[in-house]
Amino acid sequence: MHRRTCPLCEAMCGLEVHVDDGQVVLIRGDRDDVWSKGYLCPKGTTIGALHHDPDRLREPLVREGDTWREVTWHEAFARCEELIAGVLERHGRDAIAVYLGNPLAHNASLGRYTGLFIGLSQVANIYSPGPMDQWPRNVVSLLLYGNMWRIPTPDLHRTQHWLLLGGNPQASQGSLLACADVLGQIDAIRARGGKVVVVDPRRTGTADRADEWVPIRPGTDAALLAAMVQTLFAEDLTDLGALADVVDGVDEVRTLTAAFTPERVAATCGIPADTIRRMAREVAAAPSAAVYGRIGTCTQEFGTLASWLLDVVNVLTGNLDRPGGMMFATPLVESVTAIPPPDLEQGFVDRSRSRVRGIPEVLGQYPLSCLAEEMDTPGEGQLRALVTVAGNPALSGPEAARLDAALGGLEAMISVDNYLNETTRHAHVVLPGLSALEQPHLDDLILLWTVRSWARYSAPVFPRDDGRPEEWEILVRLGAMLAGLPSEGLDVQGIDDGYVAALAELWGVDPAVASSGSPGKGPERLFDVQIRCGPFGDRYGERPDGLTLEKLRAATDGLDLGPMQPQLRELLAVVGGRLALAPPYIAADLARLEARLDRDGDGLVLVSRRHLRSNNSWLHNMAVLVKGRDRCTLLIHPDDAAAAGVVDGAAARVSSTAGSIVVPVEVSDEMAPGVVCLPHGWGHDKEGTRLAVAREHAGVNYNELTPGDLYDPLSNTAVVNGIPVEVAPV
Ligand code: SF4
Repeated sequence: MHRRTCPLCEAMCGLEVHVDDGQVVLIRGDRDDVWSKGYLCPKGTTIGALHHDPDRLREPLVREGDTWREVTWHEAFARCEELIAGVLERHGRDAIAVYLGNPLAHNASLGRYTGLFIGLSQVANIYSPGPMDQWPRNVVSLLLYGNMWRIPTPDLHRTQHWLLLGGNPQASQGSLLACADVLGQIDAIRARGGKVVVVDPRRTGTADRADEWVPIRPGTDAALLAAMVQTLFAEDLTDLGALADVVDGVDEVRTLTAAFTPERVAATCGIPADTIRRMAREVAAAPSAAVYGRIGTCTQEFGTLASWLLDVVNVLTGNLDRPGGMMFATPLVESVTAIPPPDLEQGFVDRSRSRVRGIPEVLGQYPLSCLAEEMDTPGEGQLRALVTVAGNPALSGPEAARLDAALGGLEAMISVDNYLNETTRHAHVVLPGLSALEQPHLDDLILLWTVRSWARYSAPVFPRDDGRPEEWEILVRLGAMLAGLPSEGLDVQGIDDGYVAALAELWGVDPAVASSGSPGKGPERLFDVQIRCGPFGDRYGERPDGLTLEKLRAATDGLDLGPMQPQLRELLAVVGGRLALAPPYIAADLARLEARLDRDGDGLVLVSRRHLRSNNSWLHNMAVLVKGRDRCTLLIHPDDAAAAGVVDGAAARVSSTAGSIVVPVEVSDEMAPGVVCLPHGWGHDKEGTRLAVAREHAGVNYNELTPGDLYDPLSNTAVVNGIPVEVAPV
């Protein structure tokens, strides 16, 4: 039996992986795991099936016309070099883009070496699903706390009141919130006399478990929160508690939100003014409260404003950085991912503009909808080549049909991916990574929002096949190729040594000491350096009782390192020790929100949903996760169904300005009137993929309806929730 941490989501459950004769025969929750104590979800039981999946690529593929040929790694890298060199010679590096997928956040090797890959490559055009996800949250954290990845998380173990907007942990298991068994924590909050309130246009599984469901019009969370802030001021309910002496801008916030009375926003939000006032009073009166928002508050018209106002409510009620409120985690490791990019010194916005629409970048990202137009619009600087790493933008990007077509027109496309999916089917070379069970695991980024500090190391269950490179080596080689360095004779170990030395120095440790104290290479060596340089580490002898990788390896059930601790004052050191509550960049956007209050409703609008058995687009090839009734359905309220003339079980056509799809209807009063809902991550009916199970459960692609011109301009984040649509019978 092997003990592993599940790498699929932020819950990080401890698993028992039982293996017999080279086959995973059983996976169950590890009851001795100090963190998850036996909890797991259906996805975690499929880690073995993922490893054994016959569709998972084990050898590199090189395209030959419409077919693929399995090749050696030497041949695959040679073909990559040929393709990249050709594009560099013909068009220069500006014609190349990189797309970094969401699984990087969970992958111990790819995640830790992405920064090195990008730095080596010198590629400036970086795309990611960030602006389809948490980018507003990153902007707010940068402006308030000085680091885009220091994101406060609800102290679920101690809070007495949890107000949750636009998140559904019943399906996601927590997002920007790492906690095994969030629903269990909801039960615990209620059992100790606390209250849980869910604000969402859909009565989700989480809402069902809470004390109260408050349906809301999609995209109006910022208006709701502004009215809660107005109520706090109007009723003299603000109390900054321990933060009173470090927060600036409180009076500015009072002035900025004065017009957002509950009566003014009620019709826009679809929430009675009395309810809004009561929600504000309850947060203020609770012994402790955590006001938290997730995907629904980010991927919408006012994503940055909503994300900021969440923090404003927490600050004004004294709930930021106190036990039971919204707190900052103390991670086991110094995070590689959270290191600020060097170009941040030049600002975080408008350091460059997109070629076609002239859109200013935000934190290095254009709207993801720019990717298609930058590839298919001729002219100087047109993108001709793309490298994707563990991503499937053909399903997860806006205007997906256009993006899919544009991928087919590239001169060179290289994908680091374990599957021939809707995106990688367009590649010229596919370089497969390892399965989760073939590599060691220790989380990095996710540890920045754990509700309790803890640590567990996972050793590989299966050996890597001879000759297969580790994923970090693939990234180093590709990065060097993009930089124009010859592949033959590349000193991969030397590059890794330099990388680790630079990180140690950044974290205040003599690189020579780190080098001799942490021998080896790749992620395992980096684990040791990160732990030893981190808050619980031994700092190579400075703190003899501190942790090392060796000590962590010996603790097979993991180590519990205690509850979250107040630490905002230390974090604020990078921004002069003060919390500027009303950053002008965000505050200026309140005028746009006020104008929204005068806009008529948008008619029927679309929101997305996730399911416990899905993980964006990439677990649909697991038979056990897709069996049963069709989950890719359009949820619609009975009144809206009657008005549109659609009936339960029949097909409907859903149309937006971006496109049109046909999908089965599911009539349900779990939807608020005026809102319809589709899951994302589906649409596996494309020719040329190698996903036998997923093709049988193809579903439709949500993002064919996501318009490229709808985005939150402060964060470049796509409006995925709140897309105006029409629904008609087929
Ligand atoms: S909740 Fe499920 S997918 Fe997430 S870590 Fe736990 S077992 Fe894995």
